[in-house]
Amino acid sequence: MTADTIVIVGASHAGAQLAGNLRKEKWAGDIVLVGDEGRLPYQRPPLSKAYLAGASKLDDFAIRGRQFYEKQRIELVDGSATSIDRSAHTVSLGNGDVLPYSMLALCTGARARALPVPGANLMAVHYLRTAADVEAIRAAAVPDSKVVIVGGGYIGLETAASLRALGVHVTVLEAAGRVLERVTAPVVSTFFDRIHRAQGVDVRTSAVVEAFRGDERVEEVVLAGNETLAADFVIVGVGVIPNTDLALAAGLEVDNGIVVDEGTRTSDVDIVAAGDCVNHHIARYNRRVRLECVAAATEQAKVAAATISGNESGLATLPWFWSDQYDLKLQIAGLSTGYDEVLVSGDPDHDRDFTCYYFSDGELIAADCVNRPKDFITARRAIAQRSSVDKADLIGATS
Ligand code: FAD
Ligand code: NAP
Repeated sequence: MTADTIVIVGASHAGAQLAGNLRKEKWAGDIVLVGDEGRLPYQRPPLSKAYLAGASKLDDFAIRGRQFYEKQRIELVDGSATSIDRSAHTVSLGNGDVLPYSMLALCTGARARALPVPGANLMAVHYLRTAADVEAIRAAAVPDSKVVIVGGGYIGLETAASLRALGVHVTVLEAAGRVLERVTAPVVSTFFDRIHRAQGVDVRTSAVVEAFRGDERVEEVVLAGNETLAADFVIVGVGVIPNTDLALAAGLEVDNGIVVDEGTRTSDVDIVAAGDCVNHHIARYNRRVRLECVAAATEQAKVAAATISGNESGLATLPWFWSDQYDLKLQIAGLSTGYDEVLVSGDPDHDRDFTCYYFSDGELIAADCVNRPKDFITARRAIAQRSSVDKADLIGATS
């Protein structure tokens, strides 16, 4: 290692992108990418989709092949960072190794939120965050088996679709009054509820899990009101917790994520951070957010690489997301939080394509587009540029 060494902790979307972009930014020093999953960095979105459905191998969605890291002189270190000594400029690993850095990047992402109910530690109660999680789930997902999925968010619904394709009997339990309640309008929730029911998924809303029961392995799920559901396995998808422990212990500012500025600098100028673990100001909505999506992790990593290399840039991209369920592609432009009006183009009660536009004070702030790629592109541009839109045109438009 030279005096100019960048250590990146976390080898996933943000970490791998940051490492590659440092070379694009002409960073000539050493780059060390530390990951604790024991695999080449891989894309996470296929986990609940093609990988779970058995339609692809992990190699198919490695973020980069091994040769890329070799050619770009990016050293891959398999290990877990356990502490940061900011004054000594070092990171300690679980195996006792100590890595010196000139600049440090924290790309530690997020972990699945645990469901704190009795029986949560029984065998066959799964979470879905890593390739290893999916491999365990796939072993359980034999045709005609019964799964109870806790959480009607992205993980819950994408997983339900993939498991139906494997012939598994699926029940989805959502504690809130509707699926995707936190991120979409009722019309979008109703649409996905209808689609999943039509595929044979037993969707239950306002369903609160009180316990898992079984003898070593989970056998049943107990709901409030004492109803029980038989289960061969369970998948819990009730959100994530940002991995901020390292940053907190090192005395960095943390507030629902590691607080960074528009150049992704933390409260220590020698430490940047990017990805699901980061909280930043978003100019378009004039507030701080912690985003959980690949597009944001990728942009933040690019900005972090530029900052480290002394080429200032800033976070500017409008947040966007996607979700694949059955033959449906949901594309989301912007953040709908705080909307006061919704307009729908299409007929979500009967068709498989429509767009839901979200307004605040008459301004378009977000759009959920189902099988409407052109609407997505147009809306994304209009929201980012804050252009005025003709509501009648939007409702009339089909793509
Ligand atoms: P992560 O992917 O969480 O990676 C962080 C890495 O750091 C992990 O490998 C972790 O083990 C490692 N790490 C943490 N602490 C340490 C440490 N101390 N030492 C060493 N290593 C450490 N987003 C979309 O936009 N579209 C989708 O369709 C989509 N689908 C998804 C499907 C699933 C099943 C999941 C789980 C997520 C999905 N997401 C999707 C979200 C997306 O994957 C995340 O936003 C993205 O992975 C964030 O990347 P990241 O690098 O910030 O963090
Ligand atoms: P999520 O989108 O936050 O959804 C979790 C859902 O579970 C919410 O609807 C939540 O309801 C519900 N819930 C919480 N506690 C519950 C309980 N006790 N019983 C039943 N339901 C409960 O998180 P996720 O689906 O677990 O996904 C995890 C991460 O992966 C997120 O970062 C997500 O963005 C990412 N991911 C993204 C995609 C995509 O973008 N296509 C796909 C898969 C995963 P409340 O909102 O009421 O708490």
